[in-house]
Amino acid sequence: MKDKLYTAAKPTGRLTLGNYVGAVDNWLKMQEEYDSIFCVADLHSLTVLVDPKELKDNSYAVMANYLACGLDPKKCTLYFQSQIPAHPELCWLLDCITSMGEASRMTAYKEKAQNKNNVSVGLFNYPMLMAADILLYDAKYVPIGEDQRQHLELARNLAIRFNNKYGETFVVPQGVYQKVGAKIYNLQNPLKKMSKSDFDNSGNILLEDSLDEIKKKIKRAVTDSDSKIIYDPENKPGVSNLLSIYSVLTKQNMKSCEAFFEGKNYGALKNEVTNAVISVIEPIQEKFKFYMNNKDEIENIAKEGAEKIRAQAEKKVKLVKEKMGLLF
Ligand code: ATP
Ligand code: MG
Repeated sequence: MKDKLYTAAKPTGRLTLGNYVGAVDNWLKMQEEYDSIFCVADLHSLTVLVDPKELKDNSYAVMANYLACGLDPKKCTLYFQSQIPAHPELCWLLDCITSMGEASRMTAYKEKAQNKNNVSVGLFNYPMLMAADILLYDAKYVPIGEDQRQHLELARNLAIRFNNKYGETFVVPQGVYQKVGAKIYNLQNPLKKMSKSDFDNSGNILLEDSLDEIKKKIKRAVTDSDSKIIYDPENKPGVSNLLSIYSVLTKQNMKSCEAFFEGKNYGALKNEVTNAVISVIEPIQEKFKFYMNNKDEIENIAKEGAEKIRAQAEKKVKLVKEKMGLLF
């Protein structure tokens, strides 16, 4: 039997190049080897997004991009989180073994709640729902970006805690991170993560951006006043970010990338990065259009996907409830 893999993205916006380089690129490789589940985490979007029409559009678009990037329903399972009520059900059960202290330490919560005067309980609860997502399916591997490391650690701690208290129930999951590109930064502010829910997208490349927009955004990317093209995230965050994108998209290690750019200027780096991004994104955009014009196809794939895994999720919740002393 193959090892299981679980991961997701939230339809809080449209997928970015950061999502592709840090996560989807790895998913494409891993779906070949593992029993893989890729979820569009729509329930997670409710923590920040409220407009129902936007949520619907983004949900279709994220799934359309999964398919366009090459996630293949013949090889993996694709579905929307809200199709399977076992997710929020297990979340509640895990909430009750999570301490306020550990949940309050989540840096993503602190960042997202910062400067907002209306923060939902859902946003606070997000990491426990994420733990439920993963633990429901006995996932051994969880390919994610660096920003999710702390949440994955919480999922591991909850699995271990539950197993110790109630007996062996959950597989303890392992995070899988890209060697290069596990955190892609905003092109306008290379100290800030590229994020699809940003209000201002001038420093984010979206998979749906026109090729012209992509060229402009890379041309305007912040670099530094030096001229050396080397990977040095601390002193050269902008240049290192462009090199990371280039390395992942052209499937070359960082040493070969540095060798390739030796003696070249920043203009050349930006041109090469633009070519690499366009050659990956252009074919994705063609397929994306097809799926967005055939939403019934997306719905059928998601229905089939959810049916494949629903029983497994329900069985896990039943087991957890029994162990915790619930009668029915
Ligand atoms: P949001 O702003 O709503 O949090 P996001 O762009 O961070 O959106 P998520 O849906 O939270 O996207 O994450 C989907 C996957 O992409 C996760 O595995 C996450 O770690 C990864 N990821 C997100 N942003 C980046 C990034 N800038 N670099 C590398 N990986 C990323
Ligand atoms: Mg995120």
